[in-house]
Amino acid sequence: MGSPIRVAFASRTHVGCVRKNNQDAFGEFTDPERGLLLVLADGMGGHQGGEVASRLAVDVLGATFRTATDEPGPMLVRGVEAANLRIYGRALRDETLQGMGTTVVAFHLAKLGSFVAHVGDSRLYRLRAGKLEQLTADHSLVGELERHGYLTAEEAAVHPRRNELMRSVGPAAEVEVDIAEIDFVPGDRLLLCSDGLCGYVSDEETARLLGEGSIEEAAEALVEAANSAGGQDNVTVQVVERSAG
Ligand code: CA
Repeated sequence: MGSPIRVAFASRTHVGCVRKNNQDAFGEFTDPERGLLLVLADGMGGHQGGEVASRLAVDVLGATFRTATDEPGPMLVRGVEAANLRIYGRALRDETLQGMGTTVVAFHLAKLGSFVAHVGDSRLYRLRAGKLEQLTADHSLVGELERHGYLTAEEAAVHPRRNELMRSVGPAAEVEVDIAEIDFVPGDRLLLCSDGLCGYVSDEETARLLGEGSIEEAAEALVEAANSAGGQDNVTVQVVERSAG
């Protein structure tokens, strides 16, 4: 048994300045043996669909984590697949929820290492020595076009179809989950966010705000920046910091 992992985290969500409902959801789960799981989900779908889908995703991932006996990577994939089936099954039983779905980005700090699973365009960033790096690749139409060189990052950021997802959790019986082990060392800060942040606040400003003050202050400043930029969408951020020792 090694010494416990020292990690701090802060989550904030806000409905924004335009929308009436917050379809984003997040969860924070800790366990002395299993470590830390943070989950952020950005739901979509009319009526209550978006809110139902994102909440189900967070709850199912949390329940998977709390009872997990498998290793972090397989556990995360299993959790997202279980969330997918729950959301899909719920929509089959209630036609007002038909087609609902959600993004998921889940960060897991375990004794074996740090892992991220994601589907959709919610992101994980790492700030290291003032430099911001996006660690997840958006499963969006413009994200694919950008990766293949058909759009620049600047064009992608303002493209009229930038909200179209190539993958999400819930609308179909199966889902393909991206999973990666990431490098997260003392001094780094990680940021999980919905597109209500990264669609409106530049990487430069995100890097600056993420690095300033406590993690709670950084989380609040990021939400404020999204709302100052118009608050067109719900915004959710989770900031994680690993301390030495
Ligand atoms: Ca959104």
